[in-house]
Amino acid sequence: MINIPKGTKDVLPSDSYKWQFVEGVCRDMAKRFQLKEIRTPVFEHTELFARGVGDTTDIVTKEMYTFLDKGERSITLKPEGTAGAVRSFIENGMANGALPCKMYYITPAFRYERPQAGRLREFHQFGVEIFGAKGAETDAETIVFADSLLKKLGLKVQLYINSIGCPECRAAYNRALKAYFEPKLDGLCYDCKARYEKNPLRLLDCKEENCKKINADAPSILDYLCPDCKEHFEQLKGYLALAGVDFQVDSRIVRGLDYYTRTVFEFVSSSIGAQGTVCAGGRYDGLIESLGGSSVPAVGFAAGIERLLMVMENAGATMPEEDKPTVYLLGMDENCRKKAFELTMQLRLAGISAETDHMSRSVKAQFKYADKIGAKYVAVIGGSELEKGEARVKEMATGQTESVSFENVVAYFLGK
Ligand code: ATP
Ligand code: MG
Repeated sequence: MINIPKGTKDVLPSDSYKWQFVEGVCRDMAKRFQLKEIRTPVFEHTELFARGVGDTTDIVTKEMYTFLDKGERSITLKPEGTAGAVRSFIENGMANGALPCKMYYITPAFRYERPQAGRLREFHQFGVEIFGAKGAETDAETIVFADSLLKKLGLKVQLYINSIGCPECRAAYNRALKAYFEPKLDGLCYDCKARYEKNPLRLLDCKEENCKKINADAPSILDYLCPDCKEHFEQLKGYLALAGVDFQVDSRIVRGLDYYTRTVFEFVSSSIGAQGTVCAGGRYDGLIESLGGSSVPAVGFAAGIERLLMVMENAGATMPEEDKPTVYLLGMDENCRKKAFELTMQLRLAGISAETDHMSRSVKAQFKYADKIGAKYVAVIGGSELEKGEARVKEMATGQTESVSFENVVAYFLGK
C-alpha cells in the first residue's frame, strides 16, 4: 500500500463540488471585475523565485521544492503565483498591450512546511494581479475585489491594511529598526539574527513568541513614510471608504515576500486560529523591473483555497452540491436493460443527466440505488412496457407516475 505524501490531500469525488463552488465564485467575480485568467507552468527556473520572491524570505530560504532535472537545470515547483505571472507578463510583452493588464489564476503551490491544519505542502491559491497602474484606486480595487469575493463566499473576516513605503522611506525605517533591535539581538531567534543583517523589516514577520514580544515596541513604519507614500496610503483609505469596505490599519503587517512596496493587506478569520490569514497581498512596484522587465507598477493578492474552505466549513456555509441525475432508467430484465441503456445515451446526448444500471441489479436494488444517487425520476421499463414501446415514469418526490412513449422520452425530460 502506497500512501499519499505528507502534507498533501486528495479532493475526493464526494467533496469536489465544494472546490467547484469556490472556484466558480472566484471566476464569476473575476468576470465582473474584468480580470482574465492566466495559466503558467507548475515549475519554473529556480532563479525566478530566488529573485522574485526574495532570498531572505522563509519561502526561498526553507520552503522550496527544488531539484535538478535531467538536463542539470535547477527547477522549482511554484511556491506562489505572482513570480510566474510576472515572468509571463514580461516574456510576452504585455506591457505593450492595453494597460492596466488585469489577470487572475487558480494554481497549485508547493512549500516544504511543517504540515498542520491549514498548512500543507501542496495547496492551492486563487490570485489576482493588476499590472500598469500606480494610483491608490487600483490598490483599492484589488482589496474591494478580495472583500467582495470573501463576502460572496459567506465569510466573516477582518481586513488589515498597512503601508510599507517605497525603498526611500524604507531605508530610514530600516535604520530605525536596526537601532531598536541592536541592544536586543541576543534575545532574538537564529533566523531573526540573519534578518537583522539582511532585511530588518522581516523581523516584524517572525512567528516565534519571544521575537514577537521583543517586536511589540518596535518603531512603526507609518512614522517613516515619505510624503508621496503617505498621500498614497491616505488615498487608499478614502477609496476603501467610498466602496464601503471596513478596515483596520495594522502597522505590523509587512508580509512574507520581499517584493512589496507601499500597500500591504491581509484578510484574517478568527475561526481557524494561527492559520487565520485567508487572503493576503499588496503592491509590488519594483518586481517587474527587478525581473528584467520595464518599470511597471503592480498590485495583487492571493487567497489559499484550502483555508477558504476551512473557514467556510467552520462557519457552516452551505455549498450547492453537484447535479443529481434527472432520471434513472430502470430495466427489469436483460432486454429491458438494453432499452434503458439506449434511452440513457439518447438523453445524455440531448443534455439531460441520466443514469442506468451497471451492476445487473434486481429491480428492488435498482430502486434503492436510484434513491441513493438522488434521481428525481425513475423511468421503469418492464416486459409489458417494452411491448407497448413506453416507460412508466415515476416522480420520486410525489410518487406520481405517468407513461411516456420511448419516442417522447427525450422531449419529456427536456422540460424537467
Ligand atoms: P502564512 O503567514 O500563513 O505562512 P504566507 O505569508 O506564507 O502565510 P502568502 O505567501 O501570502 O502566505 O500566501 C497567500 C495565502 O496562501 C495565505 O494567506 C494562505 O491562505 C495560503 N497559504 C500560504 N501557505 C500555505 C500553506 N502552506 N498551506 C495552505 N495555504 C497556504
Ligand atoms: Mg508562510
